[in-house]
Amino acid sequence: MSNLSNTPSVRPLDQPAVSARVLWTAAGVGSLLLLLAYLVAFDQGAVSQGGMYLHELLHDGRHLLGVPCH
Ligand SMILES: [Zn+2]
Repeated sequence: MSNLSNTPSVRPLDQPAVSARVLWTAAGVGSLLLLLAYLVAFDQGAVSQGGMYLHELLHDGRHLLGVPCH
């Protein structure tokens, strides 16, 4: 005897497990995080070419993360 009321619902095969909206949102957030990681860790004046403004702005974060600085 089987009890069908405890059977988990089954997703139809024509529906993706993750929607495209969720994938695009995750890709956008991931890209922004990579850009932020670059700016904090690796920018040595390449982005802020008018000086080391960005470097100095993120200087404490760089040291907090243990990124080589100076
Ligand atoms: Zn430093």
